[in-house]
Amino acid sequence: MVRPIKSVVIVGGGAAGWLTAGLLAKKHGKEKSGGIKISLLESSDIPTIGVGEGTWPTMRHTLKKIGISENDFLTTCNATLKQGAIFAGWVDGSDDDYYYHPFNAPVGYKEIDLAPYWIKKKAILGESFAQAVDYQQAVGEAGLAPKKITTAEYNIVANYAYHLDAGKLTELLKQFCKDNLGVGQIVDTVTRVNMQDGGDIASVTTANHGDIEADLFIDCTGFASLLLGEALGVPFVSKNDILFADHALVMQVPNASEESPIRCQTMATAQEAGWIWDIGLTNRRGVGHVYSSSHSSHDQAEQALRSYVHKSGADEGDELPVRRIKIRAGHREKFWEKNCVAVGLSAGFLEPLEASALVLVEVMAGMISDRLPACREVMGITAKHFNEEINQRWVGIVDFLKLHYVLTRRDNDEFWRDNKRPESIPDTLKSLLELWRYHPPSEQDFGGSRELFPWLSYQFVLYGMQFETDISLIEHSLTNTALADRLFAENVRAKNKALETLPRHRELMDKVKEFGFQPI
Ligand SMILES: Cc1cc2nc3c(=O)[nH]c(=O)nc-3n(C[C@H](O)[C@H](O)[C@H](O)COP(=O)(O)OP(=O)(O)OC[C@H]3O[C@@H](n4cnc5c(N)ncnc54)[C@H](O)[C@@H]3O)c2cc1C
Repeated sequence: MVRPIKSVVIVGGGAAGWLTAGLLAKKHGKEKSGGIKISLLESSDIPTIGVGEGTWPTMRHTLKKIGISENDFLTTCNATLKQGAIFAGWVDGSDDDYYYHPFNAPVGYKEIDLAPYWIKKKAILGESFAQAVDYQQAVGEAGLAPKKITTAEYNIVANYAYHLDAGKLTELLKQFCKDNLGVGQIVDTVTRVNMQDGGDIASVTTANHGDIEADLFIDCTGFASLLLGEALGVPFVSKNDILFADHALVMQVPNASEESPIRCQTMATAQEAGWIWDIGLTNRRGVGHVYSSSHSSHDQAEQALRSYVHKSGADEGDELPVRRIKIRAGHREKFWEKNCVAVGLSAGFLEPLEASALVLVEVMAGMISDRLPACREVMGITAKHFNEEINQRWVGIVDFLKLHYVLTRRDNDEFWRDNKRPESIPDTLKSLLELWRYHPPSEQDFGGSRELFPWLSYQFVLYGMQFETDISLIEHSLTNTALADRLFAENVRAKNKALETLPRHRELMDKVKEFGFQPI
């Protein structure tokens, strides 16, 4: 007799728990005839992590898929539109050291890879790679938004993601899932995990609701990893020998006024022993210092954060409260074991660079929803594929994050020198860097779908960090100069049009509050 999957319990009500609940319930919830029972169990005594304010453009698709209106989301979460990241001080720490990693793909990227043509002509073009192949840097420097008020919800002129208040996002998702998707909420604390013969989880014991059973458990308990890590004993694979950040200091800085301009990129400014993120919301900024405690004391790190906030124009920087969070860089050896799958911090976390955590939640929750096993008998096969694929993604994320550190010329600081030590660089990244000495990153370099970060992102970071690719040996293959020149010119036209037509970011966010985008 087969054992159908008729009930799912998600343990943990942070962003991972509620995003997973939304995606799962939309497709399988009991609102559908023959659907399954989806419940979310969260503790009122154990707080959510309360950070995670930068997303990827994928979040537009995720929220739309769940059925949330973009206007509601933007106004409820004090959210703003994010067009990528600016990296300041990562190359050599000089005053004019910065580069953009935009969300737009290079102009014409489906027809031709412009990177080698840019390398060939960069002295003539006189522009950075990001400027030559895309216009989002110019839009960012002018303080403009990626769309107009007349652009429909979730539609784009330029590609964008969000900056948001993490606590408010969780509340919005919770309300939506309960009111519209039939997700049951149980507020209680898990005190024990009970096992069946054969190693599956039978139930979780709660303080006030007794034992709660399910066919599938989703562990979204954050760093505790209560089910997958603690109960099932799936080992943790540390990556701290590659990515050294092990703490973050977090601060909320009120905007000076309701008219304050809002930056449309995550600002990532290199520090002696890490980097500071700066994220603009409609009412405040979220600022945080990610650092290695082997390279800086907590006091020095806090001093660096306060000094940054002060220099950025916030006089109250010295008095604002700071919260310290310990980071354990790494991930579980497996993510799906027996009848339990982990999503979010319980599966792993590296550091906030490039906002890779929430997007992985979207990917993992989407995969669980798309491939939800019909019965327990086939769950092992789904789990095997899931683990292989997600493990590959982690390899790619580790490589991509490490790439930001290894090309630096900041040789005065031990943290940055240590980051360049060959023994701290994964072999996968070492061989890619070797390859890219002679040709730019291309889709073929990554062997299939392992990549969370597309090859185009590697180009933006590599050339932003002023990596030199010697194209002399492949120059004979660059026969599409006319097309490349046409596309470089097209980018200039697109830039001029964007600068003429796009509104200022603050102005757009005010209009969204007043009128909203056209609903879809
Ligand atoms: C410093 C920092 C900065 C970050 N910045 C970004 C960013 O910019 N972009 C990005 O994409 N990601 C970022 N992240 C990651 C992001 O914050 C998380 O991926 C996201 O918030 C999801 O967290 P979570 O839901 O897995 O865990 P949590 O928010 O910790 O939620 C855990 C849940 O489990 C519940 N729970 C725990 N134990 C029990 C129990 N015994 N019984 C019942 N319930 C229990 C808690 O009550 C809570 O509801 C950042 C993380 C850190 C640490």
